[in-house]
Amino acid sequence: MNICVVGVGYVGLVTGTCFAELGLNVTCVDNDAAKIKMLKDGKVPIYEPGLEEMIKKNSGEGRLTFTSDLREGVSNALAVFIAVGTPQGDDGAADLQYVWEVARSIGETMEDYKVVVTKSTVPVGTGQKVAALIREHQKRPIPFDVTSNPEFLREGSAIEDFMRPNRVVVGADSDQAKAIMKDLYSPLYLLETPFVITNVETAEMIKYASNAFLATKISFINEMANICELVGADVNVVAKGMGLDRRIGSKFLHAGPGYGGSCFPKDTAAIARLAKEQGYTFQIVEAVMEVNRCQRLVMVDKIKAALGGDVKGKVLACLGLTFKPNTDDMRDSPSLVILPELMQAGATVRAFDPAGVTMARPMLPKEVIYCDNSYHACQGADALVLMTEWNQFRNLDWARVQEAMRGKVVVDLRNVYQPARMNELGLSYYSVGRPS
Ligand code: NAD
Repeated sequence: MNICVVGVGYVGLVTGTCFAELGLNVTCVDNDAAKIKMLKDGKVPIYEPGLEEMIKKNSGEGRLTFTSDLREGVSNALAVFIAVGTPQGDDGAADLQYVWEVARSIGETMEDYKVVVTKSTVPVGTGQKVAALIREHQKRPIPFDVTSNPEFLREGSAIEDFMRPNRVVVGADSDQAKAIMKDLYSPLYLLETPFVITNVETAEMIKYASNAFLATKISFINEMANICELVGADVNVVAKGMGLDRRIGSKFLHAGPGYGGSCFPKDTAAIARLAKEQGYTFQIVEAVMEVNRCQRLVMVDKIKAALGGDVKGKVLACLGLTFKPNTDDMRDSPSLVILPELMQAGATVRAFDPAGVTMARPMLPKEVIYCDNSYHACQGADALVLMTEWNQFRNLDWARVQEAMRGKVVVDLRNVYQPARMNELGLSYYSVGRPS
């Protein structure tokens, strides 16, 4: 089967490449000519473990091609996936301009039956509007179906998540579209992946409900961490004790600087906004967003307190900038709030991130000093701040760290290090929701 994926971002590129790996012929389309040129030259515009090799293999075997011409992608495809960005608009709602643009172009270019699949995260009602736009822009009436197939992959483990998903959600209104969607994903049936087949509106809602719930878990454990600090309890152990209850589950119960990235912040805002538009206040999600906003400032205060209440003239070694490890994605990363706040208060920041610096540079104050590795960042630092739990920060050579630093303070925003070990090393160690 020939398919087309529009948008070669984190979702589109992984989706297209993985479908090619599953044996489909895939044309990936993007209107960013520079990205398409890079991909044609064998370079990958994003950092995602394993992706480069898989693109190389499938391009080499002729199943994966790239173009900036939507017509070329759409013409031979039976299914056209829309995987463009749906960023947060000014009012909190999802900004759907890119989705509408693609829907109009699909209408203008299609010559025969297509299943148009919305993979982007979009609010309920988008499928219907995509269908209306396609119909409006067709030169003559051509049958098509619009389906919803929200994506649940996580950056950093996107390939594994796509190939072995917990579930595949498909919202479709016609039997033909359902059959084509099942056929597309048939290799995953062999792995006994559960499929949730429903109508378009429900599928669209499942994505927002999932992300809002995961964000709720994070804000919940972050507030729990703040309370643990007040009463001398250990949030890691609390989370373990909670998570072993199968009704709760252990995932997404890691206290830290709050959620970030390209999904949770905008998706919580979008579902809250969607509810508001219907005259309903989604109280839990509103609180989740507020807790998340505050948690970043709680981290700023924690770092200041660790340095005696004032960071003026202090040098901070910041390890990690991205919102999570194994990605170069800086969108809504906690570091974008925490570091400018500290710099505003007079701190100098020396930062190292294994993959995020190119994206971070234009988003952070220009005074940030970017370093080549962890030890370079620690040079002359009063405090080490662990911002993102990249694996390489888990086993630092502490003798080398201490030799490089001028101070002894370690602020671990991800609870990676063991307090007892840090004390043994003679470091003043602060983490999140654990006794210092
Ligand atoms: P992204 O910003 O990385 O990529 C979007 C791509 O779409 C860009 O390359 C852009 O150039 C392209 N594009 C925009 N308009 C276009 C047009 N008219 N024609 C062709 N290409 C166009 O976005 P992303 O992170 O891949 O997210 C895509 C969607 O998937 C969003 O709705 C997001 O919420 C959702 N999602 C993202 C993740 C994630 O982890 N990033 C996970 C699940 C779902």
